[in-house]
Amino acid sequence: MTNQLTLDWKDEAGVRQNQIIQDGQPSKNPGTFRLGRDPAKCDLVFSHQSVSGLHVEIFFDRESNEFKVRNLRPSNPPLVDGNILDRGEAKLSLGSRIYLGQVQLEVTAVAAADPESQQTVLLSPAPAPPNRLPTGPMKYGLQCPKCQRISPYAHLESGCSWCGTSLAAAASVVLGP
Ligand SMILES: [Zn+2]
Repeated sequence: MTNQLTLDWKDEAGVRQNQIIQDGQPSKNPGTFRLGRDPAKCDLVFSHQSVSGLHVEIFFDRESNEFKVRNLRPSNPPLVDGNILDRGEAKLSLGSRIYLGQVQLEVTAVAAADPESQQTVLLSPAPAPPNRLPTGPMKYGLQCPKCQRISPYAHLESGCSWCGTSLAAAASVVLGP
C-alpha cells in the first residue's frame, strides 16, 4: 500500500480539481512534490498571480509516518490550518487547509501505511483552525472619528459617507473576509 494524500481546490473557472500525491512518485525534485506558478520547477502548477513561482513542497516524512508541507518562499509564506508557515514544516491531516496566496487547497484524503502492522490507517481529521488569523483576503473600512460609522476605504479622500468628516485620521478596521 502506497502512502498517499489527495488535494482538492477550485481552478480559476471555479471548477473543483484534485491531485493525488503519492510517496515516491516521479517528480521534478525526487522525494518531494512541488507546488507553485512555475511549470519548469513545479509538479502542480497554479496560474493565480498570488502564488509564488516555487511556493511549497509536500513530502512523506518516514520518521513520523505522515505527510508534511514545507515553505519554499519565505517572503510569501503559506497559511496552513490557520497558521502562517514562515519556516519549517507543518503536518498535513485529513481536512487540512493550505493557502498559497489566495488559492485554497484542502486535504480530502490521507492514507499512510503503519510500518509495524503494514496496515493502512486513515489519519484523523485536523482540529478546527484557530480563529485568530485571517484565512483569506480581508476587506477593510475606515471608522469615522466623529460619528464612529464605517465608510468604504475608497472614502479616504472624500470623507465619511454619513457625516462628511475627513477620514484622514480615521482608524482602519477589518470588516471580515
Ligand atoms: Zn462620520
